Amino acid sequence: MKLDILTAHPGMVQGPLEHSILKRAQQAGHVQIRVHDLRDHAEGRHRQIDDTPYGGGAGMVLRVDVVARALEAVRGPDALTLLLSPGGERFDQGRAEELAQQSQLVLVCGHYEGIDARIETLVDGLVSVGDYVLTGGELPALVIVEAVARLIPGVLGNPASALDESFSQGLLEYPQYTRPRVWRDQEVPTVLLSGHHQAIDAWRREQALARTSRVRPDLLAGDLLLAALGPRREKGEDEDG
Ligand code: SAM
Repeated sequence: MKLDILTAHPGMVQGPLEHSILKRAQQAGHVQIRVHDLRDHAEGRHRQIDDTPYGGGAGMVLRVDVVARALEAVRGPDALTLLLSPGGERFDQGRAEELAQQSQLVLVCGHYEGIDARIETLVDGLVSVGDYVLTGGELPALVIVEAVARLIPGVLGNPASALDESFSQGLLEYPQYTRPRVWRDQEVPTVLLSGHHQAIDAWRREQALARTSRVRPDLLAGDLLLAALGPRREKGEDEDG
């Protein structure tokens, strides 16, 4: 998969791409991540990428001609292009799973007051990482790159870990423990030491459900709640005891 980030501040993006999973995923060839500086697509003596807003108001707006040139230079025929914007559709795990199916994803970062609205005619959608405003799209782009890249087959050493995680089954994850077995008088739950896999699975499911209903009851709606409670028992299934 190709991931392209268009930004006025490439330095804000590069560091995190050189560590941990993202670094290994690139080295192993699972994903190719490229960062493009909008200034490379500016014209004129001053290579200006932004200008004052028509109609007045504070701040600067990124120029549509510059961003369009960058976009058209970078994207291939099958690319999906998303503009980072607090006014976009909210990003979540389901969206990450969809995006991980793409062969090329191009993320366009706004900065200052954003990008000239005419750029929306060249993109497939707008995406937001949450209901708050950041200074630029660089950190949101990294959030999306990281969430998507770890879903690409081969990127995670153990693919089962993505299946178990928060949101993947509609629930938050159960609590995890490791050594030491006792820490400040707090013991690891005994069921986890039992070696009894069915009991451990049942305990984890119960814990995930309890945590989700306490912290994120909005996730437990309708069918999802029934699915989370476990397989449905057919009528008369246990009538014989
Ligand atoms: N004037 C814009 C508004 O009120 O909606 C905010 C512009 S913001 C200061 C500059 C850039 O940061 C945006 O163009 C966008 O690319 C990025 N950005 C800020 N918050 C974001 C969020 N929650 N999700 C995605 N991108 C965001």
